[in-house]
Amino acid sequence: MVVAVVAGIAGSRILTAGRHWVMLVCGLLVFAASDVAFAVVDVTGGYQVGTLLDAGWACGLALVAIWALESSGPEPGARPTRLWTLALPALSTAAGLGVLVLASRVPVSDLAINLATATLLLASLRTVLAFRELGRMSDLRRLARTDDLTGLPNRRALYTDVQLSLALGAGGRRALLLLDLDRFKEVNDSLGHNVGDELLVQIGHRLSARLRPRDLLARLGGDEFAILLDDAGREKAETMAAGIRTELAVPFTLEGIALQTSVSIGIALFPEQGEDLTSLLRKADMAMYKAKAQRTGHRVYRSVDDSHGENRLRTLQELRVALQDDQIELYYQPKVHLATGEVHGVEALVRWNHPSRGLLEPDQFLDLVEESGLMHPLTQVVLAKALDQAARWVRHGQPLTVAVNLSASALIDVELPERIGAMIDARGLPTSALLLEITEEFLMSDRERAHDILSRLRNTGIRIAVDDFGTGYSSLAYLRDLPIDELKLDRSFVQPMADDARAAALVASAVVLAHSLGLAMVAEGVEDGVAYEELNRYGCDQAQGFHLSRPVPAVELERWLALRRTGSAVVRP
Ligand code: C2E
Ligand code: CA
Ligand code: CA
Repeated sequence: MVVAVVAGIAGSRILTAGRHWVMLVCGLLVFAASDVAFAVVDVTGGYQVGTLLDAGWACGLALVAIWALESSGPEPGARPTRLWTLALPALSTAAGLGVLVLASRVPVSDLAINLATATLLLASLRTVLAFRELGRMSDLRRLARTDDLTGLPNRRALYTDVQLSLALGAGGRRALLLLDLDRFKEVNDSLGHNVGDELLVQIGHRLSARLRPRDLLARLGGDEFAILLDDAGREKAETMAAGIRTELAVPFTLEGIALQTSVSIGIALFPEQGEDLTSLLRKADMAMYKAKAQRTGHRVYRSVDDSHGENRLRTLQELRVALQDDQIELYYQPKVHLATGEVHGVEALVRWNHPSRGLLEPDQFLDLVEESGLMHPLTQVVLAKALDQAARWVRHGQPLTVAVNLSASALIDVELPERIGAMIDARGLPTSALLLEITEEFLMSDRERAHDILSRLRNTGIRIAVDDFGTGYSSLAYLRDLPIDELKLDRSFVQPMADDARAAALVASAVVLAHSLGLAMVAEGVEDGVAYEELNRYGCDQAQGFHLSRPVPAVELERWLALRRTGSAVVRP
């Protein structure tokens, strides 16, 4: 029995018995030696209680106990080998079966038959346990490959499955589509994470429904999804991308809200654009970025996209130089009072006079400015230039209020109000010379902070306008709560007014809304006389747009103002 026990331990635990297994072996040996000695002594009838022999068992047990204390728990990382876990039950089962088979031929003791039966029962119990364990392990494996929220495969699963699919399906064409929702952050910020999560789930359903059985869909995290299209070239991939965009354009109903989303898709083709998932993802990502920036919806990767990274770096370096070397210029666009036709204010719009690329418009560099953390210095330069210009106009006897755009990141600067106040004072200007245009994003990113900064600005007499009004997801509550003076209705409302009665009605009621809250309404993007007249009829306060003047350098604006004063009607450069 001792030999059996030692063998059992050797089989099941010795590999995990820890550094002190010698103790265990010694303990068992001392114990066995005492037994043998006892047997020998007892045969001759010479055994007496209380001799040194009795201590043998105690010593043996003590050694085993020390081993148990020293190695409480298996060593980390040490696991019984698979072979042993399988071999032991297999051996015992075979031995048990052997005994039973033997018992059918020759007489075998009852004890042996009972032990063999017990062994077989134990072995089947072990099988049941092993089966349960296997089930649990496959559950765990599935969980590790599944995205919690949507139940779709996750990034890890994508890597294993796509790698496998690319390796197996040599010769076949594939397309990797990378999807990124547009403005998902706004949904999350304004409607809460629950709604955002639910939106992702529903998007997952719609995408799955669209795919063929052999296509792969995974959520990479956040608002990013990836699809590997089986047997698809450029054309098929583009058709699928267009289909997905149409599908996702149908509004989602979430907590009673119909939510419109859009998605930008970058496509990379296998094998011509990449042999493995990493390079395909990288290229799809670059194409997606381009699609998003150009609002084209989807785009198949092209090698020009690749120079993007390098281009970006160069532009970044140039941008730093531009801020120091006075390459930043301001163009001014007048705001006309509809009732009187007078001009009391202009909006300053930034331009980058690039040494080799010529005059760049904000959408060519503002994103980069924002991402590279250069917005603060840029805002300082713009403010300084705008206020310098305002001071010049005061000296020329034609004071104009200058409107400067503040991006949401300007909120980081808690000393903004004091800084701006000092800049105005330094030029001897009244605070009414400056108007700040902020976006709804500015208001939504951090309500309390926005409220605080705006209140302090407004207490000094600087006026605040909400830019691109109507395009954000924010609630109307801020109109009531926040210290603002003016709404600038986004041009997407103004432009369809001429041929869409409902759009016109919307503009008319927006004007009423603004007035009932004591706010002035400025219409952006007025491109023709019809819109201008309509706005006048609705009681809108001011208009700004190409119909009146494009943004122009200060001297040109002065010429335009002079012409206006001498009676020439609308002048367009
Ligand atoms: P915004 O504040 O909405 O500025 C108005 C934009 O609409 C200007 O584009 C202007 O040229 C354009 N626009 C004016 N009238 C019309 C029209 O009748 N029809 C059409 N289709 N467009 C018209 P711009 O100068 O390219 O500026 C784009 C955006 O860049 C601005 O939009 C503003 O959000 C941002 N931006 C401009 N300057 C600055 C700045 O100094 N700082 C910050 N943070 N953002 C700026
Ligand atoms: Ca603006
Ligand atoms: Ca605007």
